[in-house]
Amino acid sequence: MSYGTQLADRKRTDYIVVHTAETFADQNIGAADIDRWHRSQGWACIGYHGVIRRNGAFEQGRAWDAIGAQVQHHNFDSVGIALAGGLRFVADTEKATFDEAVIAGKREMAGTYLDPKRVRGPSAKGIAIYDANYTPAQLSTLRDTITMLLRKYPGAVVLGHRDLAGDKRPCPVFDVKPWFAADMPLTVTTSLL
Ligand SMILES: [Zn+2]
Repeated sequence: MSYGTQLADRKRTDYIVVHTAETFADQNIGAADIDRWHRSQGWACIGYHGVIRRNGAFEQGRAWDAIGAQVQHHNFDSVGIALAGGLRFVADTEKATFDEAVIAGKREMAGTYLDPKRVRGPSAKGIAIYDANYTPAQLSTLRDTITMLLRKYPGAVVLGHRDLAGDKRPCPVFDVKPWFAADMPLTVTTSLL
């Protein structure tokens, strides 16, 4: 099944874009949850074409050929997959350490903290920061899904949301291009620290 079956088809697919769902490692969420969240902000349905749960299960969002709502200025030429996870809490007392790292230029990206208004789920544990805490099962499924999509959309460029211009968020919190190019499918390295 897919969501938003009334949506128009894309004419082209130049990018395969990886996202974080901006949830915590212990939130067992999938496409239906994100569909509910995106509808609640006024969208037609879930904006992504696919979601990979914490256990590695793939769930279809919009149909692969439908125009998505997942990356500004590129919904007409890209397909997007979101990984559940990507956030963890730090205690308020730890915040200074992260602020110092930012000031020292140890992070390449702005927006290390998630705006508290955007946290979905528990929010009383501290400050939400981005963290590439994806499971090996998720990354294995991601690699398989991208491989399938490259057969469907030959020549498409595989990258992360942050690689496309116009968005300062660190999504998906790791460098997708070298990860996909390397033969190391089950781990990622966060570039935030
Ligand atoms: Zn994103």
